[in-house]
Amino acid sequence: MITINLAVVPGDGVGKEIMPEAVDVLTAIAEVHGGLKFQYEWYPYSCEYYIEHGKMMDDDGIEKLKNHDAIFLGAVGNPKLVADHVSLWGLLLPIRREFEQVINIRPAKLVKGVSSPLANPSEFEFVVVRENSEGEYSEVGGRIHKGPDEIAIQNAIFTRKGTERVMEYAFQYAMQRRRHLTSATKSNGIFHSMPFWDEVFHSMTERYPEVDTQSIHIDALSAFFVSKPHTFDVIVASNLFGDILTDLGAAVMGSIGIAPAANINLNGKYPSMFEPVHGSAPDIFGKGIANPIGQIWTGKMMLDHFGELELGTKLLNIIEEVVADGFKTPDIGGSFTTKEVSSEIIKRIKML
Ligand code: ATP
Ligand code: MG
Repeated sequence: MITINLAVVPGDGVGKEIMPEAVDVLTAIAEVHGGLKFQYEWYPYSCEYYIEHGKMMDDDGIEKLKNHDAIFLGAVGNPKLVADHVSLWGLLLPIRREFEQVINIRPAKLVKGVSSPLANPSEFEFVVVRENSEGEYSEVGGRIHKGPDEIAIQNAIFTRKGTERVMEYAFQYAMQRRRHLTSATKSNGIFHSMPFWDEVFHSMTERYPEVDTQSIHIDALSAFFVSKPHTFDVIVASNLFGDILTDLGAAVMGSIGIAPAANINLNGKYPSMFEPVHGSAPDIFGKGIANPIGQIWTGKMMLDHFGELELGTKLLNIIEEVVADGFKTPDIGGSFTTKEVSSEIIKRIKML
């Protein structure tokens, strides 16, 4: 029996509504396997927790979470209670940093039954591999000359180790898929970091001759995500470019409520974190209509992470069948509730 010991952090808003559903789905799919079991420990870390305790998590929160095989997280943020930067820097960022979750993976796929904002899109299914720890999101820089001559300087930090690490991961990922890799660059406008990024990318193409590669400037690439998303397989991107591309990816899918994501620790020392792309959706919280699919699909990525690829594929097939059969929440044009959608998924898992 394989036991996966999960830290479950529903967080805020719709995270609290969809997490119990996603956990029930995981339990059901593990039963199909027979030799797999999820064990859950629930953590209340959230903005409400902050209001009560003056901190987003316990002082030894990181130590506690470290003991788990993975972290399954809903959404964090309640700007009415706690400023966004406080909740982010109090929970999500420490987890990503302490647990060296240096890679962010975000797939995007045209799901039958979900209307994409693109007119007549061809089928697409791509994955953005985003550098999650350095790059443009750095604290290096500063401001000089107060007044009309003020200058803000922002340094982007691209280490050879960090760049090679994300490229290596992306090439490996492409090898397991359609062997097509696109690098998001901007070496015509960004003088130092992007030529370096390109250099590392090109040096690695020699090690992976089986992978068909291309390098596209981020502006054109963004346009291609809209005009021809079906031409992409794996895309490797820096922290900022990946952030922008993945929101665009979720948008072309038709709803942020269905987009999955994972924060991966590569060295195996610490847990990885599985967290959908969407946030706490305060505008729909409490109505029972949040789409549970982003969270459930994120659970599928967790199955993949633990090597349960076949089971992951079965779960994704069921998700897609359920949507195609019209079990949809309002964000994707249906009138079903969170619970009705997840119950249908569980029902079909039990029929496997
Ligand atoms: P946060 O500050 O937590 O990131 P946000 O409001 O900035 O929250 P989201 O929570 O992602 O961003 O919400 C963006 C939009 O997408 C909102 O209109 C929300 O209702 C919708 N949305 C997000 N998640 C879901 C979901 N699971 N199901 C349906 N709609 C969703
Ligand atoms: Mg937000």
